[in-house]
Amino acid sequence: MTDRFFLNEMPDLVEENEEDVVIVGSEDWLMKLLLMPYSAFSERLKELDWISKKLYSLSVSLSMSLFYHVNVVVETWGITEQRVADFTLYSGTLGTAFLQFKAYQVTNNEVDLKLCSEIVKACDFASSQSRDVTFVCGRPGVCALGAVVANHLGDDQLQTYYLSQFKDVIKIPKDLPDELLYGRDGFLWACLFLNKHIGEGTIPSDYILRPLYALLPIDLKWIGAVVNDILKNGRALGVKERCPFMFEWYGEKYWGAAHGMAGIMHVLMYAKLSPDEAEEVKCTLKYMIKYRFPSGNYPSSEQDCKSDCLVHWCHGAPGMALTLIKAAEVVKWKRHAHYLIVIVKQGVFGDKEFLEAAVNAAGVVWNRGLLKRVGICHGISGNTFVFLSLYRLTGNKEFLYRAKAFTCFLLDRAHRLISEGEMHGGDNPYSLFEGIGGMACLFLDMTQPTDSKFPAYEL
Ligand SMILES: [Zn+2]
Repeated sequence: MTDRFFLNEMPDLVEENEEDVVIVGSEDWLMKLLLMPYSAFSERLKELDWISKKLYSLSVSLSMSLFYHVNVVVETWGITEQRVADFTLYSGTLGTAFLQFKAYQVTNNEVDLKLCSEIVKACDFASSQSRDVTFVCGRPGVCALGAVVANHLGDDQLQTYYLSQFKDVIKIPKDLPDELLYGRDGFLWACLFLNKHIGEGTIPSDYILRPLYALLPIDLKWIGAVVNDILKNGRALGVKERCPFMFEWYGEKYWGAAHGMAGIMHVLMYAKLSPDEAEEVKCTLKYMIKYRFPSGNYPSSEQDCKSDCLVHWCHGAPGMALTLIKAAEVVKWKRHAHYLIVIVKQGVFGDKEFLEAAVNAAGVVWNRGLLKRVGICHGISGNTFVFLSLYRLTGNKEFLYRAKAFTCFLLDRAHRLISEGEMHGGDNPYSLFEGIGGMACLFLDMTQPTDSKFPAYEL
């Protein structure tokens, strides 16, 4: 055991056992889970009775939604006295709403959707004075999720309210950073989330008009204008042909997903870029691959070239792996009757170098990613999404096994390790990014791994 992570003593890969007999609480429970075929494991995950007995020593049967109400919603939202102290998705109540939305996507149960809408309404009130402009830490997250949930509920009036708040009321300050948690990149993600779930053009992409924006005196919040500003700022600190983009946050040139280049490049790849701009993104990623640590891990910043210690989504290989996976996706077209359809929706660069680097980074996560924390920002749950993402891209069952192994580790040990003080439950222990809210989201995604998404990051 080291200071930051538990040694990973699980087998790199196991031959699954067809026999599905696992007794909760038995010795070697973890190993028996690893041997269980994925289909049986996934069914077991849906049986929340089984999990609740294991994790919480409860003797009552809990349905899936009740499980989450009991363990996350009650703690962050309550039953009779709903109060929102921290509205943000990162550490507060909007994270619970996001979890409810994920539960709805998995169960199709409208109860989950309605509860999600109620929570977002409370966050709307609580965030009305907020000046932060990102999905994860600001009011755009509230309005974007609110509009999407209203769309699913078929409530046009509510959808119009959230969209008009998003488009007309939220102000983007001029002196904004470019990173994901507090900067332009986080606002851009909120725009892309709306377009994905409500429809292209909900927030205009206006790709063709982009060159004209610099000539306009008004403050545009359209996608093209935000992308323009990010690219312009990145070039100002970047070095052409070496690393075309570089960004600063509080004087530090960060590399990671939360505050640095990995996160900014990741979101940019979901937006429309010209061939030259796409080349600049590629070149920036190749620079990062070239100057990674010999171990395959990534520095947390340009200035940090020695301390190879952080293996988090926010800083290090896991966040970068997700960016490289996005870069490695290739468009595949298939002729269907008289028209072409996209069968693999993505379309970024497809260079083999990116896939190899992503696999390499995932190796670092496997060896050093069993962190002594539970959440998705800097914990085991977030690191598990690297394997899920690689499985989605490649279809390679080895990555699904590794996602299952990290999940089994959490199922088997997280509750005990946290209660014994061996593992940190998070500063906000039920939150989406730091606490078991993120773990709950992972468990839901593990029941349908081909649809899994790192919360508020992968679209
Ligand atoms: Zn973190």
